[in-house]
Amino acid sequence: MSRYWSDVVHALTPYTPGEQVQMPGLIKLNTNENPYPPSPLAIAAMQAAAGEQLRKYSDPSNAVLKDTLAAHFGLRREQVFVGNSSDEVLAHTFHALLKHELPLLSPDISYSFYPTYCSLYGIRNVQVPLNAQFEIDIADYQQPCGAIIIANPNAPTGIALPLAQIEALLQAHPDQVVVIDEAYVDFGGESAAALVGRYENLLVVQTLSKSRSLAGLRVGFALGHADLIAGLERVKNSFNCYPLGQVAQAGAVAALQDVAYTRQTSEAIIASRAWLTQQMQALGFEVLPSKANFIFARHPSHDAATLAAGLRERAILVRHFKQARIDQFLRISIGTDEECAQLVAALQALL
Ligand SMILES: *Cc1c(COP(=O)(O)O)cnc(C)c1O
Repeated sequence: MSRYWSDVVHALTPYTPGEQVQMPGLIKLNTNENPYPPSPLAIAAMQAAAGEQLRKYSDPSNAVLKDTLAAHFGLRREQVFVGNSSDEVLAHTFHALLKHELPLLSPDISYSFYPTYCSLYGIRNVQVPLNAQFEIDIADYQQPCGAIIIANPNAPTGIALPLAQIEALLQAHPDQVVVIDEAYVDFGGESAAALVGRYENLLVVQTLSKSRSLAGLRVGFALGHADLIAGLERVKNSFNCYPLGQVAQAGAVAALQDVAYTRQTSEAIIASRAWLTQQMQALGFEVLPSKANFIFARHPSHDAATLAAGLRERAILVRHFKQARIDQFLRISIGTDEECAQLVAALQALL
């Protein structure tokens, strides 16, 4: 607390990220990082970009990166926005598109940055409860609102909505922006990017942090109607004209182009997820059906916080949320097969 703070700072509740502990031999399954390295082509492109040309400002229009994304998704450059992480893209989205007279609807259990951005930008937020199976039921969003944001697959549940449900949500709210946060879509979900050409109220947000193994590079993007993108550009250019450096732009382009590598590593994670789910079920856990690079699981007779502490003593970090309805769950990122096997062995010992 400081008397020099502005009123808005006093009222903020900042987001708490998962711990970034440095410890030899630590198995880090708490922040949904990809266990595989980035594409070798992306690393080579970044090394090549880290030269004397860094003297100059990066391209403020991000033309090459936007064209790469446009080609990847079959869109035009005007339908693409890029930023320094999808968190930043989401922040600009809240600021530019989600503040209205009527409240923003979001799930009660979802990415906890959403309420944080609402408090930062003074947006009224109504949280719509997930159903008893921890699913988003789009019928519950049939109420007056200024805009809607959901994560698909949702986090931290990992449960995905089929594309037909997203389309029904878009059709039910033609006068509201509907944001679909697809941070985890490459691990088995269906992307709404295919609907961008048909729904002017749709904004799809994705990141290179998860499926492209580039959490440390900080690159995210949004896809939507050119008018929505123009709104985001206005906010971005009132904030920082160069959010992405040359190294980030080069690495992102190469990573997006290495489609085969992304497919291979994502398929490995999907296979490990199936194995880990089966092993945890055999240990008595209830595991929600995940389409993400993590699972969300609870044990009927073991307290989640105690289990998380026990795993921590064995140098395995998982995420536990002290939040109503989900405080008996653990969110466990999918590691390599070796890391998943060590997790299962540690859980066996703890139970
Ligand atoms: C990880 C995550 C993000 C943020 O990704 P960055 O691009 O690393 O900021 C956004 N939304 C959800 C749901 C996430 O889990």
